[in-house]
Amino acid sequence: MACHFCDTLHEASAVPEGSAARCRRCGVLLYQNRSASLVRVTAFSLASLILMGIVNMFPFLTMEANGIKTELSLLRAASELIREGSAAIGWCVAVFTLVAPLAMAGGMLYVCGPLLHGRAAPGARHVARWLSRTEPWNMIEVFLLGVLVSLMKLGKMADLCFGVGFWAFAVLMVCMAAAVAGIDRNELWDRLEVAAE
Ligand SMILES: [Zn+2]
Repeated sequence: MACHFCDTLHEASAVPEGSAARCRRCGVLLYQNRSASLVRVTAFSLASLILMGIVNMFPFLTMEANGIKTELSLLRAASELIREGSAAIGWCVAVFTLVAPLAMAGGMLYVCGPLLHGRAAPGARHVARWLSRTEPWNMIEVFLLGVLVSLMKLGKMADLCFGVGFWAFAVLMVCMAAAVAGIDRNELWDRLEVAAE
């Protein structure tokens, strides 16, 4: 493996748990084996899935204008957009805020859960490859930022109240980031390589 900083070539051998491999020449971090990485990824993925359930069970936002109170959930926001003629935006909301995080957290749980017992789930290598390819498309933090910006504008027209769904979504964002960052890609591949099918 080449150092991404100075291009020095190294032989990438396995490092013991809790330590890291650094470049021999410039000292930059090449890869690491974080302690309890699998447990952490599994826990945060599971927490993300539970939070996704909470996000969709409770209202995201409550709006009150002229005495009319409206409760909005993420799922309803997407279906209303599709129904009201903004189908493309509605599908984007559904895919990026519901389907993508669900697939991401579910995929990580599927790959890392069995690895805790030293086994690879059937097709786990395909799932892991697909996960690293779709990672840049996981943009719930961008969505949350967009929500906050539009809320500032909406706040002038109506009284807004964040629902349980909103707070669950904020925590979900942190859990997803922790799950994705919880394991080094090289470490994951090494573990998959030695695991029994
Ligand atoms: Zn280097």
